[in-house]
Amino acid sequence: MNSLKQALRTIPDFPKPGIQFQDIAPLLQDPIHFSNTIQALKNHHRNDSIDLIAGIESRGFIFGSALAYALGCGTVLVRKPGKLPGPIHQQSYDLEYGTDALEIQTDAIQPHQRVLLIDDVLATGGTVSAAHQLIQSHFDVQMVGATFLLEISPLNGRKRLTDLPLHSLIQIP
Ligand code: AMP
Repeated sequence: MNSLKQALRTIPDFPKPGIQFQDIAPLLQDPIHFSNTIQALKNHHRNDSIDLIAGIESRGFIFGSALAYALGCGTVLVRKPGKLPGPIHQQSYDLEYGTDALEIQTDAIQPHQRVLLIDDVLATGGTVSAAHQLIQSHFDVQMVGATFLLEISPLNGRKRLTDLPLHSLIQIP
């Protein structure tokens, strides 16, 4: 995991002052690092009998689709408002300033499917918590958990999600 960690870079004050942005682009550009990332996630979840991976827009789609291919399961998109056609469910959540929302198509998940959420970064946990609520409140599913490439531990995202098993490959202490 150390070499994966070294493939990330921190961009200070992006997208606004005070944010240490964790840029995953160098990891994605390197075929060995990207492959090792998906392999490590696959190893961790190989016995979870996952039916569907729910990727959170947008970097969750990158890891979600590759992991779904590796595990031989399906993938569904949890998107920002206005991107999905047809009937949708929506879940709002609070940001530092204002609110945002996530959406999913109403036929995205079948009863009793086992679903794993995925995103690139776990920061404060607000996004994944909203995605969890969105799925849990509208579908009769078994949530396997949520998985991340990177967890920014000091932001305490885990504390918001005590009812969902969380996994991250890399932690920033
Ligand atoms: P949060 O809801 O605070 O856990 O933030 C998670 C979402 O915001 C993920 O979709 C990340 O892609 C993005 N994000 C939050 N903080 C960062 C950061 N420091 N660097 C890169 N992405 C971040």
